[in-house]
Amino acid sequence: MADYNKPIPQPDPTHTQQFWDGAKEGKLMLPRCTVCNRVHFYPRIMCPHCHSMSIEWIEASGEGYIHTFAVQHRAFGGWADEVPFVTAFIDLKEGDRMFTVLRGVDPSKPEEIKIGAKVKIEFEQATDDVHVPYWRVV
Ligand SMILES: [Zn+2]
Repeated sequence: MADYNKPIPQPDPTHTQQFWDGAKEGKLMLPRCTVCNRVHFYPRIMCPHCHSMSIEWIEASGEGYIHTFAVQHRAFGGWADEVPFVTAFIDLKEGDRMFTVLRGVDPSKPEEIKIGAKVKIEFEQATDDVHVPYWRVV
């Protein structure tokens, strides 16, 4: 925890508290619309698919697939020490996408990173209250 030198997300009681509460317990919590039954990410109080304000939270599987990725060669702040690293959009098993830093891959061998590869979420403790999600190729 003391080694976490990157920007710390700030949980918001209206939009994201349930997400961060779940992350602290190693769970991926996602908002789901009770009208159209679709999940969305990032968390919002209005469904981006049908504009309903009726949102519930579900515990997701924490499984997904690489939608696309990029190797980052420049970064700022706490990320500058990490370059090169790989960022990716993850297609969540339950629907919608999440942006992440991808783990379990070699940024010097992007040809080995496969679109559609299965990934699993993991969390790194940044503070007592914030555990940051990352995705890892499995
Ligand atoms: Zn909806």
